[in-house]
Amino acid sequence: MQRFIPDSYYQASRRVTLAPSSTLDSDVTADVCIVGGGVTGCSAALHLAERGYRVVLLEAGEIGHGASGRSGGQILPGFGTDMSTIERAVGQEAARRLWEMSCESVRLTESLVRRHEIPCDLVWGYVHVAVKRRHVSAMRRHAERMAERYGYHGEHWLDRERLQAHVRAEGYLGGLYDAEGGHLHPLNYTLGLAQAAQRAGAVVHTGTPALRVESGRQPRVVTAAGSVRCAFAVIACNAYLDGLVPALAGRLMKVANYIIATEPLEAATARAILPSNAAVSDANFVLDYYRLSADRRLLYGGEVSYTGQPPRGLDSRMRDKMRSLFPALQNVGIDYRWGGDVGITRNRAPDFGRVDSNIFYAQGYSGHGMTLAGLAGQLLADAIGGQAERFDDFAAIDHRRFPGGERLRVPLLALATTFYRLRDRL
Ligand SMILES: Cc1cc2nc3c(=O)[nH]c(=O)nc-3n(C[C@H](O)[C@H](O)[C@H](O)COP(=O)(O)OP(=O)(O)OC[C@H]3O[C@@H](n4cnc5c(N)ncnc54)[C@H](O)[C@@H]3O)c2cc1C
Repeated sequence: MQRFIPDSYYQASRRVTLAPSSTLDSDVTADVCIVGGGVTGCSAALHLAERGYRVVLLEAGEIGHGASGRSGGQILPGFGTDMSTIERAVGQEAARRLWEMSCESVRLTESLVRRHEIPCDLVWGYVHVAVKRRHVSAMRRHAERMAERYGYHGEHWLDRERLQAHVRAEGYLGGLYDAEGGHLHPLNYTLGLAQAAQRAGAVVHTGTPALRVESGRQPRVVTAAGSVRCAFAVIACNAYLDGLVPALAGRLMKVANYIIATEPLEAATARAILPSNAAVSDANFVLDYYRLSADRRLLYGGEVSYTGQPPRGLDSRMRDKMRSLFPALQNVGIDYRWGGDVGITRNRAPDFGRVDSNIFYAQGYSGHGMTLAGLAGQLLADAIGGQAERFDDFAAIDHRRFPGGERLRVPLLALATTFYRLRDRL
């Protein structure tokens, strides 16, 4: 029987060592207190510290403990929803600015990796593959629309035959190749941002959950053994927020998502399945996504859970799906499996805003946060510095709460997903 190690491949391949950090055990002051040590929080800490702010970052676990250190690591221009949803929310002009910012977030990721020499195996190329006939027409329309309305020419339709240059799997009908997408090692990227923030002067306290955030002229973030009195607070907890800020409850749902990592593949096998080393995701609502790691493991993600517990039969289902796509992997072992929580909003657009005039938040990337969260950090720093226009373009997206109140929210979302999962099969 296959033995699964219930731990992340990323933890086993971390290459960035942070300056030692301790838990917070006293009352301190700062210009900005950031809660959450994922990409959003670490990028905000870096951009703020570089501008001379005294920054304290509180992380409940380790840096990258949340989605940022568990993610598929796929670099995806755009959002977790299509641009027509964004247009309906904010109008065409603002939608164009938001689209431009999503592309900027990809360039920002590249420049942060370069500037801070983050060893995160950044690779370019991404393919969105069609599983159903309706995906083919929808994708082709999407690429035309993005070129016409947004001047975006990055996506190229590949028929079955041309898709072979990137993905050699059973059953795909074609795909959209985007050279501006790609992939990276998400934990090393997050740790690299934290290390750069530390070097710029930010103080990081790990193992320090914030217990409450008190509003006021000078907000106070309270922990078990200390507190941070600050001019500004940033909430960067995304799906891991739990009850910390009640005003944000109901705007975000957490959905667990899982990844398996094979043992390292022979170079010829890796080339035979993913010749260009692109990242791939399919067009289903409950999607599967995968890519190669730097040491040629196939990292294969998919499946969801609303209970926080891995669904029954998860391991064998993921392994079977991977092997039916790539029969060449029939006898390849699985070394790791792990999960993480994705923070989704009702319309799948990101949710940025203020809890109070001096308490900011950015969350709800809906599975598209790997690069956007880096830009969110920069926009949070801009907004705190008084340049809030671009942050406010995001904050203008209206977000409705999930229906059903605290008790029924999860079952209703699970029901809706079951509907879409059935539709994926048609
Ligand atoms: C399995 C999986 C696969 C994904 N794949 C992709 C992908 O391929 N591409 C993509 O673009 N996106 C992907 N995502 C989404 C992406 O990873 C997230 O959008 C992004 O990492 C969010 O970053 P963040 O910093 O906002 O949140 P997180 O990285 O979740 O960080 C939040 C942090 O806040 C901390 N925290 C929470 N409460 C407290 C508290 N009270 N006090 C102190 N600290 C606290 C948590 O411990 C956590 O470390 C994936 C997510 C998952 C889970």
